[in-house]
Amino acid sequence: MQPILYIVIPCYNEQEVLPITAPMFLQKINDLYIDGKISEHSRILFINDGSRDKTWDIITELSSLDEHYCGISLSRNRGHQNALLAGLMEAKDKCDMCVSVDCDGQDDIDAIDKMVDEYLSGSEIVYGVRSDRKTDTAFKRGTAQFFYKMMRGMGVDMIYNHADYRLMSRRALEGLSQFKEVNLFLRGLVPMVGYKYSCVEYSRKERMAGKSKYPLKKMISFAINGITSLSVKPIRLITAFGFIVSALSVIGIIWSVITAIIGSGVAGWASTVSIICFLGGVQLLSLGVIGEYVGKIYLEVKGRPRYIIDKKTDEIK
Ligand code: UDP
Ligand code: MG
Repeated sequence: MQPILYIVIPCYNEQEVLPITAPMFLQKINDLYIDGKISEHSRILFINDGSRDKTWDIITELSSLDEHYCGISLSRNRGHQNALLAGLMEAKDKCDMCVSVDCDGQDDIDAIDKMVDEYLSGSEIVYGVRSDRKTDTAFKRGTAQFFYKMMRGMGVDMIYNHADYRLMSRRALEGLSQFKEVNLFLRGLVPMVGYKYSCVEYSRKERMAGKSKYPLKKMISFAINGITSLSVKPIRLITAFGFIVSALSVIGIIWSVITAIIGSGVAGWASTVSIICFLGGVQLLSLGVIGEYVGKIYLEVKGRPRYIIDKKTDEIK
């Protein structure tokens, strides 16, 4: 019996690109089946992340055309990470392995062959790693590179240049399902699941159609979420910084006492003001960072659902 593969694809307002890429995924499933690597019960699972265009109509139409297509629709837009999790959890009880991939064709679909080979030779998780980023803008490349390095510096175990293009076995998915956090950052969580893993290189292409759903604002909040949900280093840095500033102020106090004793007048207004301003700034910044964590705790404590499924195509019910 060959293993069942599910290709899990989150889609948000992707009516332009879906009709182009969906047949490519189907072709991939067919090829792998003909090669005898996967079962005929393998599926392509779309997650409609509350799209406002015709994405869901396209998904239901696809599923009526070919039984290998199926889909679930979330009750509203919950963001890429939650949509992806919804798909992974849906696939968990139905597949032996699943590959998560974007629907815009940017990630080279042919890397799935290599991922499946790695799975067949014993890997529980196979990370897709970008071998080059030639097609990204210099800005996106630079910020992304900086982000990976910073995450490393913060002590977060992340695979360099790996986005959410990866294969996970059923066991790995079950491991992932035990992580209950609401502030999701999958590429930091999956390495925590553990198990034997390997990497597969692929080259990142241009989006085949439509626009990126990750503008700079979303990228920044994604990065901040990544850091604060996986690392407490910023809080430690504040402590260290506070310690240094306190040590310096002891020197300042000694200095001011000495000048007072020597009696060198009311000079020093400038230094007083600058110290007050500096400390005010540091304190506000520190409060902001701590507030970020308190906010996270607030959301985690409430334990709201990470996604709610509204509809499913017939195939998957
Ligand atoms: N996506 C989603 N929900 C969102 C934003 C994006 O499901 O709120 C999906 C989108 O349809 C795509 C994937 O996440 O399949 C990656 O998005 P995109 O290609 O826009 O990001 P980029 O490749 O530019 O980083
Ligand atoms: Mg993309």
